[in-house]
Amino acid sequence: MRVRFSLNRFVEPTLPDGSPQLRHGVVEEETLFETRSAWSLDKGVAYRLSDVRLLPPCWPSKIVGVGRNYREHASELGNPVPAEPLIFLKPPSALAAHGDNIVYPAISARVDFEGELGVVIGRRARLVRPQEAENYIFGYTCVNDVTARDLQRKDGQFTRGKGFDTFCPVGPWIVPRERVDFERLRVRTFVNGEKKQDASVQEMIFPVGAIIAFVTQFMTLEPGDLIASGTPAGVGPLEPGDVVRVEIDGLGVLENRVVRG
Ligand code: MG
Repeated sequence: MRVRFSLNRFVEPTLPDGSPQLRHGVVEEETLFETRSAWSLDKGVAYRLSDVRLLPPCWPSKIVGVGRNYREHASELGNPVPAEPLIFLKPPSALAAHGDNIVYPAISARVDFEGELGVVIGRRARLVRPQEAENYIFGYTCVNDVTARDLQRKDGQFTRGKGFDTFCPVGPWIVPRERVDFERLRVRTFVNGEKKQDASVQEMIFPVGAIIAFVTQFMTLEPGDLIASGTPAGVGPLEPGDVVRVEIDGLGVLENRVVRG
């Protein structure tokens, strides 16, 4: 499905002198309109979407991950369903844009894809109640919570396994929450065109509002912060040369190639 409108998409047009520059823009169909700032809606110079290189659509101060938030995924890895959200952090240095390479590290022998719904915070959020959480969401995007599974298991915690550079592809853009029919969202992941994951976001054990409420009890979320809300069943390995695609209807397609580090 084509994304009709999205915003806060950072772009890097190739200018006549060949120098790339960081810009912000709003997308309508195949046209990208430059905006004055990351969060504004004013439409300036128009570019063809195919003429710009996308950057990650947000620059979070932190990326909050949620582990085991789909029942079938917890059981496929032999883990119990958690009683409270299982929270971890990915560093912003792991960010990658749509079209960027995922670099397979030499020190891992098992790198998995994890297609997920990404939630982008729009207002500073602290001690938020679940029923108010939606007001703090700017919009939604696709995330691939790439994981070196062997290192995650070996370390007994997530920082190294999930923290490599390029292990957090996000995008291609953010769709504002007002334009998203949340109940109908499905997360689908494809590797080399073969479908590996397909689940409704309704299957989350802890819904987005509960996650925001839980996290903001101990951590202030800032505008642009990103929550990777957990992956459904079907995770599996990537190999150098693979093309992995996370697709969420109405949000867009996030595609990345795996290359050897
Ligand atoms: Mg995950």
